[in-house]
Amino acid sequence: MSRYTGPNCKLCRREQVKLFLKGEKCATKCTLDKRASPPGAVKMRRGKVSEYGLRLREKQKLRKMVGMNETSFARVVEAASRAPMSTGEELLRLLEMRLDNICRRLGFAASTKAARQLVLHGHVKVSGKAVNIPSYVVKAGDVISLDPRMKENTAVKLSLETAQKKSQRPSFLEFNEDGLSGKVLRVPDRTETSFPVNEQLIVEYYSR
Ligand code: ZN
Repeated sequence: MSRYTGPNCKLCRREQVKLFLKGEKCATKCTLDKRASPPGAVKMRRGKVSEYGLRLREKQKLRKMVGMNETSFARVVEAASRAPMSTGEELLRLLEMRLDNICRRLGFAASTKAARQLVLHGHVKVSGKAVNIPSYVVKAGDVISLDPRMKENTAVKLSLETAQKKSQRPSFLEFNEDGLSGKVLRVPDRTETSFPVNEQLIVEYYSR
């Protein structure tokens, strides 16, 4: 399976928006601030962006934010389209409830990528059971906990401090500092999801 290993903020330049793939660093050290142009050696003459292009970029933006490859991303879109509610909203909800994303939102890690490592390395439990699958979708009522030994991990410590300072944890999660855990109180609504995208364009991209 191929995985993008190039500079994270090059993707910010491509999508023309900060994707926060490095967590907070993207706020202060993003190359988008220094070079606003999209990457590529040749300066192309920018014509009017086509309808297709617009939808493609919106899809790519979201896909890169969650760090998924096209195959798995398309699979989630497909799953969302089978839900009774709006496909776009369901898509954002499914991505929001991924275990790696929830770990990031609880402040266990500064970025989704770092959160994925925590999960992959077996430091995370869901309601007492070890789960090492970053794409695992949590449910309302689940308790997500981090191995107490990780409290001493420098990156985890820093991330928890930042989350505390910014107090930006969403209200659908109940954080328990002593236990280093968080409970999913309910399914998040559209305004509580983390992705600033136009989900309708993404749904349209896949319904060609
Ligand atoms: Zn950036």
